Amino acid sequence: MTDIQNLIERRAAEQARIRMQLNSMRAEEEAKLKGGPEAVAWVKEEQCIGCDQCTIVCDDDAIELYDAPMSSPIMNVDVNRKAKILRDPCTGCKLCVLACPTDAIIMIDR
Ligand code: SF4
Ligand code: SF4
Repeated sequence: MTDIQNLIERRAAEQARIRMQLNSMRAEEEAKLKGGPEAVAWVKEEQCIGCDQCTIVCDDDAIELYDAPMSSPIMNVDVNRKAKILRDPCTGCKLCVLACPTDAIIMIDR
């Protein structure tokens, strides 16, 4: 019969296995992203929720938030914020892509 200690150890081993797998998938995704001076970030406006995470991680002051009308009639607020990339200061470092919780930022050719 499985005892509690054995269960805890198996659970920890399974957690470690899943974490390793996710990290490796994430590394593969990161490696596939374009970056560097030939690339620039781009925000897909419809996916941006104005959470500000991208501006926090961008060291180059290349992202601004602006007010946009709220598109959902369900929520009773007039405006939402959206992120906008400033092409010139953007260095193509990809940090904002990794920070965005809604996958709203992609890298495109400059
Ligand atoms: S790619 Fe880097 S420099 Fe460009 S907007 Fe994103 S975080 Fe800022
Ligand atoms: S992190 Fe993503 S969702 Fe949040 S403001 Fe930036 S682009 Fe929009």
